[in-house]
Amino acid sequence: MKLLEGKPVAEKIKEQIRQRIKSLDRAPVLASVMVGENAGAAAYVKSQQKTAEGLGIEYRLHTLPQETTEDRLTAFIRDLNADARVNGIIIQMPLPGHIDYKKISQFISPEKDIEGMHPANMGKIVFGKAAMLPCTPAAVMELLKETGIDVYGKEVVVVGHSEIVGKPLALLLLEKLATVTVCHIGTSKAQKLEEHVARAEVLIVAVGKAGLIKGTLIKEGAVVIDVGINRVGDKIVGDVEFEEAAKRASWITPVPGGVGPLTVTMLMRNVVEAAVSQR
Ligand code: NAD
Repeated sequence: MKLLEGKPVAEKIKEQIRQRIKSLDRAPVLASVMVGENAGAAAYVKSQQKTAEGLGIEYRLHTLPQETTEDRLTAFIRDLNADARVNGIIIQMPLPGHIDYKKISQFISPEKDIEGMHPANMGKIVFGKAAMLPCTPAAVMELLKETGIDVYGKEVVVVGHSEIVGKPLALLLLEKLATVTVCHIGTSKAQKLEEHVARAEVLIVAVGKAGLIKGTLIKEGAVVIDVGINRVGDKIVGDVEFEEAAKRASWITPVPGGVGPLTVTMLMRNVVEAAVSQR
C-alpha cells in the first residue's frame, strides 16, 4: 500500500504556478469576498491568503457586513468583474441565510470564476473543454495522475453526487474514458452501496459521514481517494475506515493530508491561469 499524500503533489504544482507567474508582468490578484463574521470561513481565508502570498499572488480580502443584501453583494461582484486589476473572485462560504449562493455565484464573470462554479464553466466540462475546473475534483484528478494509474476502461465508483465534488468529478473521469458509477443517498437507501464499492478499481468518496465505507469492502489493489472531512471527538477522519481499507488498497489518501492540501493549490492555479488568459 502506498500513501497518496496531497502535500508533495501540491508542492510540485506550486512550483509550476511560480514559473507561470514569471510569464506575467504583474502579480495576479485574487479578490476574496466574505459576508459577515464566521470562524470557519476566517480560518479558510487565512490559509488561502498564506498560500496566495507564498506564491506571489495578491490576496485582497473584502469583508462586507452581515446584513449585506443580495442586491448589494451582486453590485459588489459586478464592480470586481469590471476591475481589470482583479483576475479571480471567490465568495467565502458560509453566506448569511438571506443570501442564495447559487444565485449570487452566477454573477461572477466566468473568466474570473476561479472556483469553477459558474454554469458556463460547469457546462464546458460536459463538452470536455473545461477552462476553470472546480477545485476539489481537480485535486482528485491530480492525485489520480500521481498514482500513474490510467483510469481508461477502469471501474471507477464515485460516492457522492454534489455539485461541487461528485457530479463534475464524474464528468472529468468520463472524459478519461473510465467506466463511472455515481452512488449517493439513493444507492444507500436501496442497499446497493456495498456491491458498487466492492467492485471499484478506483473508489472516490465524498459524502461527509465517518465510517460510511467499511474497509473490508475495498477490492484488493484498489485506489481509494477519500474526500470526506469529519470531526470525530478531537480527530479529523474521512468517510472510509482507513486501517482496514489500507490493508487492501494499492494507494489510499490519508485524512487529513490527502485531498485537502491540494484544493487550495488548485484555486491558486485557477487564479494564475485566469490572469494568463486575461492578458
Ligand atoms: P454534500 O452534502 O453536498 O453531498 C453529500 C453527498 O453524499 C450527496 O451526494 C448525498 O446523496 C451523498 N450521501 C449522503 N449520505 C449518503 C449515504 N448514506 N450513502 C451514500 N451517499 C450518501 O457534500 P459535499 O459538499 O460534496 O462534501 C462531501 C464531503 O467532502 C464532506 O465531508 C466535505 O467536508 C468534504 N469536502 C472536502 C473537500 C476537501 O478539500 N478535502 C472539499 C469539499 C468537500
